[in-house]
Amino acid sequence: MIGGDAAGMSAASQARRLKGPGELEVVAFERGHFTSFSACGIPYWVGGDVPERDQLIARTPEEHRARDIDLRMRTEVTEIDVDRGRVRARDLDSGAESWTSYDKLVIATGARPIRPDMPGADAPGVHGVQNLDDGQALLDTLARTRGRRAVVVGAGYIGVEMAEALINRGYEVTVVNRGSEPMSTLDPDMGRLVHEAMEGMGITMVNDAEVTKLLTGEDGWVRAVATEDGEYPADVVVLGIGVRPETTLAKAAGLPLGKHGGLLTDLAMRVRGHENIWAGGDCVEVLDLVSGQERHIALGTHANKHGQVIGSNVGGGYATFPGVVGTAVSKVCDLEIARTGLREKDARRVGLQFETVTIESTSRAGYYPGASLMTVKMLAERRTGRLLGVQIVGREGAGKRVDVAAVALTAGMTVEQMTALDLGYAPPFSPVWDPVLVAARKAAKTVGQHP
Ligand SMILES: Cc1cc2nc3c(=O)[nH]c(=O)nc-3n(C[C@H](O)[C@H](O)[C@H](O)COP(=O)(O)OP(=O)(O)OC[C@H]3O[C@@H](n4cnc5c(N)ncnc54)[C@H](O)[C@@H]3O)c2cc1C
Repeated sequence: MIGGDAAGMSAASQARRLKGPGELEVVAFERGHFTSFSACGIPYWVGGDVPERDQLIARTPEEHRARDIDLRMRTEVTEIDVDRGRVRARDLDSGAESWTSYDKLVIATGARPIRPDMPGADAPGVHGVQNLDDGQALLDTLARTRGRRAVVVGAGYIGVEMAEALINRGYEVTVVNRGSEPMSTLDPDMGRLVHEAMEGMGITMVNDAEVTKLLTGEDGWVRAVATEDGEYPADVVVLGIGVRPETTLAKAAGLPLGKHGGLLTDLAMRVRGHENIWAGGDCVEVLDLVSGQERHIALGTHANKHGQVIGSNVGGGYATFPGVVGTAVSKVCDLEIARTGLREKDARRVGLQFETVTIESTSRAGYYPGASLMTVKMLAERRTGRLLGVQIVGREGAGKRVDVAAVALTAGMTVEQMTALDLGYAPPFSPVWDPVLVAARKAAKTVGQHP
């Protein structure tokens, strides 16, 4: 296994469950300091909701080793020799290099954060949040900055989660965003709701802004983020501008990459054209079951499933990963943001004609204490009424409602079929017509399926 986090160690653990040490030798290489950690939890650790770093570690190196996995920490694989079935690895502490042969290889190298290639990007006070070392470095910075101005570059889900973390730490937060609205995984009209809510929380949103450089003070520490239109003073800067598949090794080894730079696999997560090499997690492209296109989506939920599938196959069993419908959920303070399926532009790109509806409803019966508004946008294919996508923005109870839509998408349901879904109802949980069903009814009418 190359890579010792979600995909790699899930694969290793599953293979070990199926085959004992006498039957299968499992060797895993991890260049970092940690295994099986939750990067997803970093914003909540930095923000103080999760007090201890170690709470984010699902399984330590020692725990893996106790299960007969030969885990080599701080060891970076520097070359894959496909012809001879071996990898070269360097011990990052001693510098020693050695070759290890394999019968089966698993590539789980994850994704590489995009670092802007501009002056000041590596200045002290500028942080990424990819792993636990990054999280600790950011916390160390927060402990030493005297000023309380933070700029987050990027308004994807990591950017907005980090904005919340910094608000929780008492910072004045500005989010500088290249797109027209935050959360480009939503359509702009839904992103607009996020924008307004963030401003309501006291976060300054700067959209349509291209960062040109990070300015530093005389001490070398970052002091501002500069865009073409202005400067935003900062005592700390957090970068959340996306990731790319980490496929440097795979590319050098001549393994097949897709148009997004991720490894291409078959349904068993086997690298195409290579009988004894598997790949999973953030370093692969996945099939989008709604559009039929390959995409790169870096999410832990997929990485864990890939690892499970790979481990089953490597361990002599049989499992497949059919693809994704593009479900994601996140939050900024008390605002929940969820999406599944296609946005308008995705549907257009693949040539689908569709109708969209947007409804407002409440999270609970209107009379029940704590009911709050949520907005649901739904896309349905013209003529067939097939559900194409759902986006939800609202307060408590909004986010995970998207899972109903994810199931409907996976099942290929029409919006008319959705209107009959037998969802649970009681006043503390939803109105008698759940918001997702209200949207489905309106969508069914719009596509002419419903009276
Ligand atoms: C701040 C943050 C928040 C997130 N929140 C969510 C969320 O809420 N929900 C969600 O689903 N996902 C979330 N994610 C994404 C999720 O963490 C990733 O999708 C997941 O970790 C991917 O797992 P992976 O095993 O493919 O890659 P990684 O977790 O990146 O692990 C790859 C490992 O491979 C190692 N490696 C790479 N190259 C080599 C080499 N040559 N030799 C040895 N080792 C190597 C790396 O050091 C790394 O430990 C979040 C990510 C971040 C950064």
